[in-house]
Amino acid sequence: MSETTLAPYAAHSDQSRGRRHLESDPVSRTQFQRDRDRIVHSTAFRRLEYKTQVFVNHEGDLFRTRLTHSLEVAQIGRAVACSLNLNEDLVEAIALAHDLGHTPFGHAGQDALHECMKPYGGFEHNLQSLRVVDDLEERYAAFDGLNLTFETREGILKHCSAKNARKLGDVGERFLLKRQPSMEAQIANLADEIAYNNHDIDDGLRSGLLQLAQLERVPLFERHAATVRTEHPAIAERRMINETIRRMINALVVDLTAESRRRTAEAAPVDIDAVRTAAPLAAFSAAMRREADDLKSFLHDNLYRHYRVMRMSTKARRIVADLFTAFLDEPRLLPLDHQKRAAVDAPRAIADYVAGMTDRYAIKEHERLFAIRG
Ligand code: MG
Repeated sequence: MSETTLAPYAAHSDQSRGRRHLESDPVSRTQFQRDRDRIVHSTAFRRLEYKTQVFVNHEGDLFRTRLTHSLEVAQIGRAVACSLNLNEDLVEAIALAHDLGHTPFGHAGQDALHECMKPYGGFEHNLQSLRVVDDLEERYAAFDGLNLTFETREGILKHCSAKNARKLGDVGERFLLKRQPSMEAQIANLADEIAYNNHDIDDGLRSGLLQLAQLERVPLFERHAATVRTEHPAIAERRMINETIRRMINALVVDLTAESRRRTAEAAPVDIDAVRTAAPLAAFSAAMRREADDLKSFLHDNLYRHYRVMRMSTKARRIVADLFTAFLDEPRLLPLDHQKRAAVDAPRAIADYVAGMTDRYAIKEHERLFAIRG
């Protein structure tokens, strides 16, 4: 992709608001390509392979992990960005980094850690993703973190409480002023939603937690499933599901692209700052928004609240809470480099350590600390 074909309101690498630590410009790469490369080489990125969305990592080899989820988000985001003449490299960097701060065991782990950290400022996974790229990665001689551009950092910080936003300076500002991030960040956010809704249906059916008959109540799924069945009456069930999900993703992408194009034409932003002060320019149409919300609440009620998922989540919350409490009671149980950080701010250092764990590492660490016979 050449940056010369970008829309005027896209993020242009040469107009970046820059990095926190001054560095010379990259040679033969754009600023956002450099960000993407740094993210791919980070320790936190490799750990995504062993962190989960809904299913605990060792439940099966076929389910999505945070790594494959992040790759799907990047792929969907790039496709949308490309057809809107937005900066694909920035969307990719944001997509690959958006879940770096996720705790082990998905949302259950994050809720447990937030509960533990309530007296010490709380725990927000988006803020933690930013903390990983700003402070926690130790790869460069001259600075902590990955020293990413403002635009990538702005995109990573999808949500943030006002209290935390005040402490963050430049990237926190928009939450106080109620402004938008770049279109690239908005696209990455919606690509995230497209990816997880669709792959959770897929993983839900594959695991047997969801039944095909239940999905017939979801119009977005049923409409495409019906067309597939009409066009291919003899199709095997597994292939029918795959084809239906493929068509759903496509329909969501096409709708998002068309609606975003319509809104951009109407608002006619002159540059990226005009995008930031406008109403959200990347969006689904009202009809598709409703259908996507129906799908979300279906998944919430039938998959995320399924008793087998609840059992996993409850166990996960207990593991995270046990680990946090044990380390807070006795910081000398921490590995040495984490003890050093704990000497400055014990709860935050422990939250960083626990959040960085993969599912299986957290389970192992819990065994090491609590099993009477190891
Ligand atoms: Mg995500």
